[in-house]
Order: sequence, then structure tokens, then C-alpha cells
Amino acid sequence: MTTRTLSLDDQLYQYLRSVSVREPEILRQLRQETAAHPRAIMQIAPEQGQLMALLIKLMQARKALEIGVFTGYSALAVALALPADGQLVACDISPEYTAIAQRYWAAAGVAAKIDLRLGPALETLAGLLAVGQAETFDFAFIDADKSNYDRYYESALQLVRPGGLVLIDNVLWSGRVADSTVQDSRTRRIRALNQKLHQDSRIDLSLLPIADGLTLARKR
Ligand code: SAM
Ligand code: CA
Repeated sequence: MTTRTLSLDDQLYQYLRSVSVREPEILRQLRQETAAHPRAIMQIAPEQGQLMALLIKLMQARKALEIGVFTGYSALAVALALPADGQLVACDISPEYTAIAQRYWAAAGVAAKIDLRLGPALETLAGLLAVGQAETFDFAFIDADKSNYDRYYESALQLVRPGGLVLIDNVLWSGRVADSTVQDSRTRRIRALNQKLHQDSRIDLSLLPIADGLTLARKR
């Protein structure tokens, strides 16, 4: 027994998956197709998708935001968990990646819940704020280009209601954030955001060591 978070070796990780992941068939198929994609590692892990779906249900979220769609796995996990009249605004710049996403959203019967906005996400978020959507979202998931992470966080925090949740992906960045010899710009930006959130009195905070690290920030 230990009070420290366990490190998972392959055996324990497989066990965790085997007794916890309940992946719907359509998500399994999307994961399988994405696995053959050259950028496959960008996709979230199935246990993370399941956690996000659970959070959506716990919060009874109706309106969600995603920044960084890729082939649509996390968006599909969220959309499946939203109620029938729920809405997910999904931001990406790639028509190519999101064409795959749209195919699966349609097959899963959730296409009507997802409003895909193609273009630089900062512009999409500014547009949402400009049309009066501040504090109208229950949930936001940030998983696009790391260079804009801080700006995505600030915009998402304005867009979620008090009590709403902002999730930030890849905050452990394969461990590089903790290695002071790593000084590339993406690592430095994630490190700076982690430090900023630690001091940020606008939120309640938890950093989960799931997948590549997932921060939960609840707007106060
Ligand atoms: N959440 C996705 C999943 O579970 O599969 C993975 C998202 S992937 C890590 C990051 C995505 O951000 C890519 O699809 C990329 O096209 C998109 N992206 C990169 N820069 C962007 C920008 N400036 N605005 C919007 N999307 C951007
Ligand atoms: Ca990610």
C-alpha cells in the first residue's frame, strides 16, 4: 500500500482496462480506424473518453465545447453522453481529419448534436463570446495546439458557467513537464499553464494522472 499514485506497468494497465472500459461498439470502430492513421497517437485513450462521458452525466451537462477534434473520438464519447437535446460545439482546423469524425458521428446517430466549426479555434471562441455565449457552456475540453493552450483556457473559462468544468489534456506531456532539461516551447507553455492553474483562485482544481495527464478545472 502507498499514499502515492501508482505507476502502471503494462500488466496493471491492461488489467485496469479489462475491468473498467465499457467502450460502445461505434467508439471501438472509430478507435480501430484511427489506429491506422499516421497521427493516431493524438487520440485520447478509451478510459479517458469514458471518464469524460461520466463527468458529462454527473454534471447533467447539456452544452459542451471541444477544442481539437481530430477523427472525433472524444467528441463522440461526449456527444453520446449528452441528452438528446444536448449540444457540442466542436472546433478544429482540419477538414480532412474531421471528415472521418463526421462519418462516425452520423453512424452513431449524434450528428445533430454536434456543431463542427472549422477554422482557427481562437477565432471560433472569440465569435462565440461576441454573440453573447459567455457562461452558457457546462463543459469544455481543450486538446488542440499546445502553443495556444493558455488562450484556449482563458476563453473556455469565460464560456463556461459558474460550476462548469474545463478539462485540459496532455498536462503531463509524457513526463517532459517535470524534466527541467526539456525547454522546447510546447513543454514550456504546458508547464507555465500548469503553474498558473495551481495559483488560479477562479477555479477548483484537480490534475488526474490518466493517459497523458488531464486537468479538471471547475469554474467558481
Ligand atoms: N480530441 C481528439 C481525439 O480525442 O481524438 C484529438 C485532438 S488532436 C490532439 C488536436 C487537433 O487540434 C487536431 O485535429 C488539429 O487539427 C487541431 N488543431 C490544431 N491547431 C488548431 C487550431 N489553431 N484551431 C483549431 N484546431 C486546431
Ligand atoms: Ca490529447
